[in-house]
Amino acid sequence: MRSVFIHSHDLAKFEFGPGHPYKPERAIKAYELCRRYGVMGRPWMRTMAPKPIDPGLLSLFHDEAYLKLLREASTGKVTLDMLAHGIGSEDNPIVTGIYEWSLMTAGATYMGMRLILEGEADVVFNPLGGFHHARRDYAEGFCYVNDVAVAIGDAMKRGLRVAFIDIDAHHCNGVQDAFYEEDQALIISLHETGETLYPGTGRADEIGAGKGVGYNVNIPLAEGTDDEVYVYAFHEVVPPLVRAFEPDFLVAEIGADTLRSDPLTDLMLTNNGYQEVVEAIKGLSGRLLVLGGGGYDIYRTARCWTLAWAILNEVEPQDEFAGAVGGMMFGPEMEVSSLHDVPRPTTGQVKERAFAAAREAVEFIRSNVFPVHRIRG
Ligand SMILES: [Zn+2]
Repeated sequence: MRSVFIHSHDLAKFEFGPGHPYKPERAIKAYELCRRYGVMGRPWMRTMAPKPIDPGLLSLFHDEAYLKLLREASTGKVTLDMLAHGIGSEDNPIVTGIYEWSLMTAGATYMGMRLILEGEADVVFNPLGGFHHARRDYAEGFCYVNDVAVAIGDAMKRGLRVAFIDIDAHHCNGVQDAFYEEDQALIISLHETGETLYPGTGRADEIGAGKGVGYNVNIPLAEGTDDEVYVYAFHEVVPPLVRAFEPDFLVAEIGADTLRSDPLTDLMLTNNGYQEVVEAIKGLSGRLLVLGGGGYDIYRTARCWTLAWAILNEVEPQDEFAGAVGGMMFGPEMEVSSLHDVPRPTTGQVKERAFAAAREAVEFIRSNVFPVHRIRG
């Protein structure tokens, strides 16, 4: 196996503003924690700095007029037009250099894909990727340029079949829109239901249109969904679909905002459920491009991604408590000095409701999507 961790300190130091929840520095924390746990620097691993994407490739998904506004916003210019396209909102502020930063993050994802397709790597992780909310002509959900839609769009142009598995807590509305009528890309998202969380989309019955019917799969989950419920829903739906689809390669977005401590969401996973799902994803393809996505409890997100990198490389973290050395990285919280969480299942009515919602979504997909792929449900 050959793996690549895409990393750039400079890129991760970029800031959206002091009060903004999206902190690119999580990537630095993850990188440092991987080193601390001895899951970096193995002979088959490489760390590579990203290159900016060829701006021409952005038009595989984005409108030219929108990109022009983004270039202007990047120089600090402010116009009313921008806000009509989501640029300059609270979630997507006008930040100097945002266009160039987006070229780099999209470039990292694109480079990762090229490394895999050219046989240079089997597994690539880009923690600063997965901007799945960006629309053709609209910035939203902290996303300006949709690196996922651009990379998958490029692969499809080359005649490849791509499966995308998104375990970020938010529905991948931008990616769904990009491929809603396509059968060359299988888009699967597990997320907190749009009834309680942005962006509000991602119902189970959004299964694609035209020849794309059956190639867009949503598993909306209720507040309080814990490891057991999440892992159940994942196993029932994702492996059978991906195996039947037989993609040329797999893209996974592994946002850690499903964790119970995340300040923006209501899912209640621990690192243990997260880990089980990443293991299952790893088992589904030998060619795997992994993108970071969200995660707003930055320390626990770094822990999640450290575990994920270890799983992707099939190595055991060296020392279960290495993160506690020096005690600085995670502050006084003893719980987070280990990579693994104490199991914390939800109980009572919350658990029952979460299970019921998951079963309902699973049943809907078995009845309406499995037949398209000739899977016996
Ligand atoms: Zn998210």
